[in-house]
Amino acid sequence: MTQDELFKVLVAHCKEYGFIFPSSEIYDGLAAVYDYGQMGVELKNNIKKYWWDAMNRLHENIVGIDAAVFMHPNTWVASGHVAAFNDPLIDNRDSKKRYRADNLIEDYLGKIEEKIEKEVEKGRKRFGESFDEAKFRETNPNVLREKARYDEIHERYKKAEETNNFDEYKQIILDCGIVCSISGTKNWTDVRQFNLMFSTQFGSTGEGADKVYLRPETAQCIFVDYINVQKTGRMKIPFGISQIGKAFRNEVVARQFIFRMREFEQMEMEFFCKPGTEMEWFAYWKEERMKWHKALGFGDDNYRFHDHEKLAHYANAATDIEFRFPFGFKELEGIHSRTDFDLGNHQKLSGRNLQYFDPETGEKYTPYCVETSIGVDRMFLTVLSHAYTQEELENGESRVVLRIPAALAPVKVAVLPLLKNDERLTGMAQEIMKDLRYDFACQYEEKDTIGRRYRRQDAIGTPFCVTVDHDSLEDGCVTLRDRDTMAQERVPVAELRARIDAKVNLTNLLRKL
Ligand code: ATP
Repeated sequence: MTQDELFKVLVAHCKEYGFIFPSSEIYDGLAAVYDYGQMGVELKNNIKKYWWDAMNRLHENIVGIDAAVFMHPNTWVASGHVAAFNDPLIDNRDSKKRYRADNLIEDYLGKIEEKIEKEVEKGRKRFGESFDEAKFRETNPNVLREKARYDEIHERYKKAEETNNFDEYKQIILDCGIVCSISGTKNWTDVRQFNLMFSTQFGSTGEGADKVYLRPETAQCIFVDYINVQKTGRMKIPFGISQIGKAFRNEVVARQFIFRMREFEQMEMEFFCKPGTEMEWFAYWKEERMKWHKALGFGDDNYRFHDHEKLAHYANAATDIEFRFPFGFKELEGIHSRTDFDLGNHQKLSGRNLQYFDPETGEKYTPYCVETSIGVDRMFLTVLSHAYTQEELENGESRVVLRIPAALAPVKVAVLPLLKNDERLTGMAQEIMKDLRYDFACQYEEKDTIGRRYRRQDAIGTPFCVTVDHDSLEDGCVTLRDRDTMAQERVPVAELRARIDAKVNLTNLLRKL
């Protein structure tokens, strides 16, 4: 199966098993908006808890908040979103398809890079042991020609980006002969700016309604609340404020399922520090966040840092943690050193003093800030795209199993009486479930053969199944089946809690950090 096909299968699986539905599907849906179903919400909550506890419990100097989605409109003037939160968009006149002009150019550059890598691979095969890659890259005429083309376009693109020169974006697209993937033509409109913020009216029109925005990120609430938290929490620099919440962006191109949505959720943490120490904290948070990802066991090779070449005007360092999604390495999380840009601007526009007074040194300063920002939904996709596995079994059958880390799985244990018509079995199974449900998310299932019930639990990623059979009535033992190995073991009912807990407890995951 190609990665493309795999991705389609995953999307269908998410719907079939109650993880994710298209929003308002009975009305044919709403583009790039999705609902989390009965399984999805549990997984999502577990992801959020893993992040929240890692931030707030494991760092004494980090506290969380939950701010409103609506904010005073000046917030977005100070943050620069009103003036500059734009995407350059372009339409193909024949297909009426809309694209981000920068993405079209970047994809084109990516293809040149791929060509170069293919040449290098060819060389490696041809020369075998004696292959000198550096020399090959410096001398092979095909590589040199592609590299020169890459550099020329890249140079023009970067300049156009820095100067917001949209005519040049279009000229690059035309010069490179980039065509629309639907119509195959180069019949492009001009490139236009498009602000990504959603706006709405606040208050009734009679009272003079104000235009307000749905927040495009959660970070600004943290900056605006910074002084309240610092004072009431008696926080000493360095300290952090974290938040999980909804964000809204009117994305131009939103075609990759929950990777790019118009309504999504972010988990952001702003870490305030003394100016001059931000690079140490930037390095610290890079490492901390990578550890958080790798503790999930999805394979270290599937992550990489992508340091930003071009920094936003307010940042003095920035990197992305990229994950290998089914459609390639893409940004999962951003880590940015934002200097005092945000607090400084809010201070100017609000006229409020947001400076920190250091009681130990007597100094006053506007703190610098290092931000970690990850999308809950992208993290969800990371978990599912790694977890989804189709397996051929030794007996010739196949199964679909979601190898979700046990601590994040939506259901931890399914309790199954072997037969549904025997009240002694169903009674005992229900007793077990009623006891376990205080500690674990449980499901009780009695319909269908035991094999089919195991498959259903595999498909939603349940780490354990507990089966009650006739022997259980005699010896007080049940069969404990492991999702990943499918191994079955007889375990006394009294030991179940400890056995399950040892694998599914979030604490075990947190202890790895
Ligand atoms: P991209 O380049 O992919 O548009 P970005 O650089 O605009 O992302 P940030 O503004 O840094 O993203 O947002 C931080 C995080 O929020 C991202 O790393 C991502 O996980 C998540 N995120 C951003 N936009 C979306 C979206 N439209 N849908 C889902 N998650 C998003």
